[in-house]
Amino acid sequence: MMLLHTFGKRSKVTSPAKSLPSLNRVFALSTQNEKDRSEKKKRVVIVGGVAGGATAAARISRLTSSYDVTVIERSPDVSFANCGLPYYIGREIIDRNRLALQTPVSLSRQLGVNVKTNTEVTSIERQKKTIIAKDLKENKELTLDYDYLILSPGASPIQPKMEGINHSRVLTLRNLQDMDYIDHIVTQRDCKEVVVIGAGFIGLEMVEQLKRIGKDVHLVEGTPTVLPQADPEMSEFLHAPLIENGVQLHLNDKLKSFEKLSESRVRVNLDSGRSIDADLAVLCIGVKPESSLASNAGLNVNPRGYITVNEYMQTNDPNIYAVGDVIETKDLVFPERQTTVALGNIANMQARIAADHLVTGKSLPYRGSLGTSIVRAFDNVLALTGWNEKRLKAEKIPYSTTTITAYAHASYYPGAMPVTMKILFDPTTGRVLGAQAYGIDGVDKRIDVIAAAITGGLTVDELSLMQLTYSPPFGSARDVVNVAGLAARNIRDGLVKPVYELDTSAKDDKVQLVDVRPRESARNNPIPNSINLPYTELRSTDLSKVLQGDKEYQTICAWGKTAYFSSRILANAGYKSSTLIGGMTLNSKPKPIVPSKGIDSSPSSPSEEKKTDASTVISVDCSGLSCPGPLLKLKEQITVAPANALLKITATDPGFKSDVKAFAEANNFLLKELTTTKGVIHATLQKKGREEGHDVANTAGGARKGATIVCFSEEFDKVLASFVIANGAAAMGGPVTMFFTFWGLNVLRDPQRTPKESKPIIDSMFHHMMPKGKDHLPLSHFNFGGMGAELMKYVMKNKHLPNLPDLIASAKAQNIRFVACTMSMEAMGIRSEELIDGVELGGVADYLASAEKTGTNLFI
Ligand SMILES: Cc1cc2nc3c(=O)[nH]c(=O)nc-3n(C[C@H](O)[C@H](O)[C@H](O)COP(=O)(O)OP(=O)(O)OC[C@H]3O[C@@H](n4cnc5c(N)ncnc54)[C@H](O)[C@@H]3O)c2cc1C
Repeated sequence: MMLLHTFGKRSKVTSPAKSLPSLNRVFALSTQNEKDRSEKKKRVVIVGGVAGGATAAARISRLTSSYDVTVIERSPDVSFANCGLPYYIGREIIDRNRLALQTPVSLSRQLGVNVKTNTEVTSIERQKKTIIAKDLKENKELTLDYDYLILSPGASPIQPKMEGINHSRVLTLRNLQDMDYIDHIVTQRDCKEVVVIGAGFIGLEMVEQLKRIGKDVHLVEGTPTVLPQADPEMSEFLHAPLIENGVQLHLNDKLKSFEKLSESRVRVNLDSGRSIDADLAVLCIGVKPESSLASNAGLNVNPRGYITVNEYMQTNDPNIYAVGDVIETKDLVFPERQTTVALGNIANMQARIAADHLVTGKSLPYRGSLGTSIVRAFDNVLALTGWNEKRLKAEKIPYSTTTITAYAHASYYPGAMPVTMKILFDPTTGRVLGAQAYGIDGVDKRIDVIAAAITGGLTVDELSLMQLTYSPPFGSARDVVNVAGLAARNIRDGLVKPVYELDTSAKDDKVQLVDVRPRESARNNPIPNSINLPYTELRSTDLSKVLQGDKEYQTICAWGKTAYFSSRILANAGYKSSTLIGGMTLNSKPKPIVPSKGIDSSPSSPSEEKKTDASTVISVDCSGLSCPGPLLKLKEQITVAPANALLKITATDPGFKSDVKAFAEANNFLLKELTTTKGVIHATLQKKGREEGHDVANTAGGARKGATIVCFSEEFDKVLASFVIANGAAAMGGPVTMFFTFWGLNVLRDPQRTPKESKPIIDSMFHHMMPKGKDHLPLSHFNFGGMGAELMKYVMKNKHLPNLPDLIASAKAQNIRFVACTMSMEAMGIRSEELIDGVELGGVADYLASAEKTGTNLFI
């Protein structure tokens, strides 16, 4: 209300230099102004000499030399990089001098402005157009006249009035002095445990940096998830990396009080009754505007203490501008609403607008704040822009949303990492209202594109049509942003009925959960009360036999994409269908691998070195390698790993998931954890101790049953023989695995299925030259262009001998595993979607482990 009142008066606000029509002509016109003006220079006083203040001073000095500019700053420093402070504490930034972008002397010299540091402005006398300031070093008062005043005093960290808050080990971080003091404490030998209170951007940065220097870190957050600025299901992505890196999370618990245990030790009491004893507590629970100067001078502030300004940053006194953390502005998404956003880039932008307007009387108007921000927690990145779902819901604004996961760059190019993006949009117009993205690579780029889209008022339709950079190392033919736009369009077009929460409680007879992931995924990570109908098998399945009754079939997959495809197949076949948005990635996050005592993956952790019972943690990064690359790398590591080693492996080859199990068994390792997060496979292996033993039946020469058969050949008679043996071995009991490699892969090809994308020329040649499946295999002798094979089939039929299709069906019925060698597939250009159903992908380790387990091992 107050703000509307302020803006209502805007037409009466006089511009300081009202004759100047265009910013483009600023130099010429300001020269003209200089002539027009009296000899006396106009005096500009700027309160605060960091982000907003220093930028305003610089811009004014570049536009004109006819103004006498004085910057007054309370602290000893001007124009320093507040955003870099946590990174110096963690020594990611090593040189402290790099944080001081300017010194008072360099600022004064470069810009031709007066700089008074260690000086605090204590009051503004608007009638007299003077400010009163205090020289904090000399303890002297001074008075300065101004024609224009720019306020950029920022916001100070919140320090609630509570017991124990004044303890010398309860600190906040805002400026270089705060940073130096925290740095002084954390570098003391006795400072081991630190509590960070508040899991917003600065809190998370502090946590990461404190772990970097080996502290035991507790993170206290009053809400159920870290980074409350994002929606909970997106913030949750950061929990596992924080825990896995040894951060002790105390969520949904609020700070109650501090207790002094000694001069250097403090107890942090929480609402839950828990308390944490630490050597340092860092408060990162938000900021409050430093607006008392303004309010005491009768300038308008909102009920929360933020100064209200118009779009040229003028307060209700046209000669006084305010910028940065201290002001309330329009919201960029809903300009009829007000918002407060404390960000360095925004302070810079506003300072330039204020300076332009002050000097020229013209400027681009400030369009509003969007709040685009980003944070990293141990390589995991979460970024956001615009409105989140919580806020839209709270303000009762209609919205629609979808969440997708897609690779940051071409999935086939090494190191492809997924990005999960949630997008919020107007259900009627499709206008983009906000987005959040999580991932390891490429998150910033995507959120920046969405921020640009929101600024331009674009819709989700336009996101789907955006032409963004694409080359395999950088992007995909369909970028994450395009995919998000397409998924949103599918919802708007009614092509998908979205379901936003996975409910695995026993369903009534109205909804049936359909897990469309591959069988191995369903086996490894089953979804309660679901049926497993792999997407790849849907089109060849007689649906009427498996989907019975007038139910809604809710499809679920890992990322939401094949669930959507499946949902369309079901809908096209006349079934009611819905899709779990975001898939299992979003709805069932992998449990963090809680580090046992002594396991701490943070680099160069001094406290770690001191622990006596530590296992040696070896990180093995196999991402971007395809089979057998990950196994070779792993093998290399285990030969040099000490006996107590814990191997933490990451890989992106899908075949690795089954390979690593087999590898562990074959090499006497315990598979402690195997999860897939956004397509990245994380496995933890530990050498088995004696007590865990080994599977005696497999290694000690016990009566081993079953068979492992390598089908190398595509020749009809040899393939027939291998299936006869396989079926026989299965009938006698014991596991049977048929491992198809090179020409043998052709047995598994389904002639009806085509690759999703066209193949490169050589692969395409292979594709056409090789036999397409069981019905087209040549005979090893007397083939005569296929006539021999047909004759053989005829003879076998007449003699009532088993035919190949029946043997294959029988093998499937007996649960014989068909494993296609991923390396040979790559070599021969055969894609998984061309194979018959029920084929697993695997590698050498899979074969070797099967061979070790079984009594018979044949190569055909
Ligand atoms: C640790 C940390 C990390 C951050 N990281 C990021 C980030 O990654 N990205 C991002 O966009 N933003 C970040 N920010 C926020 C960003 O620094 C602020 O939004 C920005 O500095 C605000 O600019 P400002 O000019 O309004 O205030 P400030 O830059 O805080 O400057 C205000 C100055 O005014 C002085 N002052 C106040 N009152 C008086 C007075 N009466 N007399 C004289 N001087 C006075 C203060 O001493 C202060 O130095 C971070 C902030 C902190 C503290």
